[in-house]
Amino acid sequence: MAELSVRSVLVTGANRGLGLGLVQHFLRMPKPPQWIFAGCRDPKGQRAQELQNLASKHPNIIIIPLEVANPASIKAAAAQVGEHLGGSGLNILINNAGIVKLNALDAETLEDMSEVYTTNTIGPLLMGQAFLPLLKKAAQGSPGSGLSCSRAAIINLSSQGGSISSLLTWEIAQAPSYRCSKAALNMLSKCQSLAYKEHGILCVALHPGWVQTDMGRSLGLPPPVTLDDSVSPAHVSHGASHIPFRFLLLPSSSTSSSP
Ligand code: NDP
Repeated sequence: MAELSVRSVLVTGANRGLGLGLVQHFLRMPKPPQWIFAGCRDPKGQRAQELQNLASKHPNIIIIPLEVANPASIKAAAAQVGEHLGGSGLNILINNAGIVKLNALDAETLEDMSEVYTTNTIGPLLMGQAFLPLLKKAAQGSPGSGLSCSRAAIINLSSQGGSISSLLTWEIAQAPSYRCSKAALNMLSKCQSLAYKEHGILCVALHPGWVQTDMGRSLGLPPPVTLDDSVSPAHVSHGASHIPFRFLLLPSSSTSSSP
């Protein structure tokens, strides 16, 4: 299989956890992307310090202010990314930003259901809409007609926590808002894959494993998967080869429990 070769990638929630791990992974590639757009909702804040340090050493990292629960912020980010790309398209959009609220079913609230759904499901929907013109441009500008990450792709970070058939960790955390948001994200990914196929854009939902990040640790048990292991390349199926994740959620199933 050919090595993944992309000119541009955008990762949301890139200042810590899996998002930052992905940025680091792209930097380590034999041929790193010319543009790594790192979406971050508070670029000047303490939590963005590591990303800022990385960007100061790597001019191909462009930090983009991006709050995925805010349509105006998404629109501004798309315009900024478009300006940087100067006429070329965006190869990969990774909808990674996400939140979890660890409520029990009986204690779940309208506020938490809404906030988690807005961030984890509506965010990726609006991101897909806003960046569609740039993704289309990348697909049109690439040779060949198949679907691949080297051409144009939307990668949604889902979770086995949203799986209806293999729902594990219920005893540790019920978290209905999170589970529902990820189940809905899986359906959104299916809708995107059906709608955007004709534009040459691959759309998939991935489960990254139960990973050692702030979110992964919030369950109170040590997560089994290291950040490096999660973001390192894996041979996955269904046309999504060389996506930098070990586990593919849709349409095949994954193997470990997780948030
Ligand atoms: P973390 O909590 O470690 O990091 C979450 C990132 O998302 C942070 O950068 C955070 O920014 C950002 N973020 C949250 N809300 C918003 C928002 N509204 N707008 C912009 N950015 C936002 O999570 P992980 O890295 O562990 O998770 C990344 C993704 O992987 C999530 O979608 C998660 O559901 C999924 N996942 C993770 C698993 C795990 O075990 N870790 C398992 C299965 C799925 P800030 O610093 O500003 O808060």
